[in-house]
Formats: sequence, C-alpha cells, structure tokens
Amino acid sequence: MKKISKHIIIIGGGPAGLMAAHQLLAFGHKVALYEAKPSLARKFQLAGRGGLNLTHSEDLDVFANKYYENSSFFTPLLNDFTPQDLREFCHALGQDTFVGSSGRVFPTKFKATELLRQWITKLNANGLQIYTRHRWLGFDNNNNLLISNDRGKVDTTPYDAAVFALGGASWPRMGSDGSWVEIFAEKNVDITPLRAANCGFETNWPARISSKFFGQPLKNISISLDTKYVKGEIMLSDYGLEGGAIYALSKTIRAVSYTHLTLPTKRIV
Ligand SMILES: Cc1cc2nc3c(=O)[nH]c(=O)nc-3n(C[C@H](O)[C@H](O)[C@H](O)COP(=O)(O)OP(=O)(O)OC[C@H]3O[C@@H](n4cnc5c(N)ncnc54)[C@H](O)[C@@H]3O)c2cc1C
Repeated sequence: MKKISKHIIIIGGGPAGLMAAHQLLAFGHKVALYEAKPSLARKFQLAGRGGLNLTHSEDLDVFANKYYENSSFFTPLLNDFTPQDLREFCHALGQDTFVGSSGRVFPTKFKATELLRQWITKLNANGLQIYTRHRWLGFDNNNNLLISNDRGKVDTTPYDAAVFALGGASWPRMGSDGSWVEIFAEKNVDITPLRAANCGFETNWPARISSKFFGQPLKNISISLDTKYVKGEIMLSDYGLEGGAIYALSKTIRAVSYTHLTLPTKRIV
C-alpha cells in the first residue's frame, strides 16, 4: 500500500515534542515544530543539571505500577517503548548510559546538553522544520492554528494533523505554563486537572527538630503511607522533605491529603 505523507504540526519543543517529531519523520511525514521559547527543551536541560535520570532498570511491571497501577493504558505503551529502547535511543545518538546503584539509569556524562544537541542535529538532518519564538495562541473559527511568529505577527497555519506537546505547569519560566488548559477547555476537551507530582512536601517541624539537621540526607531508609512502601533516601530541609523516596510517594501523599503535610510549593517537577 502506498504511504501517504501528511503535513503535521507539533506545538512544543520539549522531549515529548521532539520524540513525536522523531517518530513522525521516520514514517515519512513532513513535520514542522513550533516552540514559544528562543531555544528547545529548556526544562529538559534544567533536568540535566541534576544528572538526568533517564529511566529505571527494574522489571517493567514494577516500573509501570509506580505510575499507574494495573493500567490498561500505560502498560502497553511502555511495552511498545521500553526503558531498554530508551537507552538504545540514547546510544544511537552517541550518548552512553549506565545503571546507578539505585537501579536508575543516567547518561554517562550526567548531562542533557550533549544528548539534546545530537538529537536536534539528527532531527534537522531528517528534515524537521523548527520554528522557535513561535507561540501557538489557539484556534480560529475554522479550527486553524493561530501562531504568533518571532515578530509578533499572527498567522493561521495549514496542517493535516497537529500534535500538542505543551508540557505541564511547573517551572513556567522554562516555557510550559499550562495556558493551554483554557484553550482546550473552551473547545470542550476533557482535561485531567494539573496537579503537582514528583515533588517535595512542606511541613511544620516540631521544635525538637533542630536546624542543624536541615540539608542532611537520611540514607537507606524506608517510608510508607497507606499500602505504599518506598526504600531510598530523603533530605530534611527547613520547609519540609525532599529526595527520591518522598518524590516516589508523592502521588500517594497527595491522594490521602495527609494532615500534617501540605501541598508542595518548592521544587515541583
Ligand atoms: C528541576 C527538574 C529536574 C528534573 N529531573 C528529571 C529527571 O532527572 N528525569 C526525568 O525524566 N525528568 C526530569 N524532570 C522532568 C522533565 O524535565 C519533564 O518531565 C519533561 O521536560 C516534560 O517534557 P514535555 O515535552 O512533556 O514538556 P516540556 O519539557 O515542558 O516542554 C513543553 C514545551 O512546550 C512549549 N510550549 C508550551 N506552550 C506553548 C505554546 N502555546 N506555543 C509554543 N510552545 C509552547 C514550552 O515552551 C516547552 O518548551 C525534571 C524537571 C525539573 C524542573
């Protein structure tokens, strides 16, 4: 059967938009990507400053359940593109990876910059058209995309299909500010409300917890809430708790609205 090449627009140049472009180009489509910021994947680069935990080496079932328990939606997606596939994707871009003592997977260089540079080079070579400083503003009455260009001029852009890879609402100065919620709500699209995840939590420390403990890690501990149990490391700070183990439990904490922990305002990832 003859392949039909479509003109596809991607809005948002974070890792999700770049990966969508990568796949669509491989299918032979003509792809243009629009990013509001002057450069691509700013949040991804920020993540790289912390070492960039790419994925985890644990069994796929365990890994999948950490996100959505017994999900008929998520698990097949993960089976289609496994953590090992992600590692091989990075290797093909010339970036080695390794498994740390916690089982987490990192680029050997502990950075996002080089991985990103190689990725963009490859996308350019495969024909991706990239427009930075171009902000998608919404739709006109005919459902055309309204995009404001780098000089502030708004044009309607023709397309066969569009992919919206607009990110969440945390760290808005990196580009994703959640303003898309209103645009889609006006179109009566069902939206799962944005909520903080993978984050630290604030607490009012009792007087006996002295400030000399703040900034200190508690290593090799386990914490639990309800039926969830996590082993790892946490860090005490003047405002509450940070660290891998508390991030892993953050979805459960949020769900049970634990009385002496309040919703996070710091380091929401
Ligand atoms: C401090 C920190 C550490 C992190 N560490 C890790 C880690 O170790 N491992 C990990 O896997 N993840 C980590 N993350 C999370 C990771 O960065 C995000 O999950 C990832 O960037 C999400 O990718 P995305 O493409 O969905 O969204 P984003 O990266 O948010 O990209 C969305 C893009 O869309 C653009 N955009 C939004 N609206 C418009 C519009 N209207 N028009 C045009 N463009 C628009 C934005 O400018 C942005 O570039 C970390 C995040 C932070 C903040």
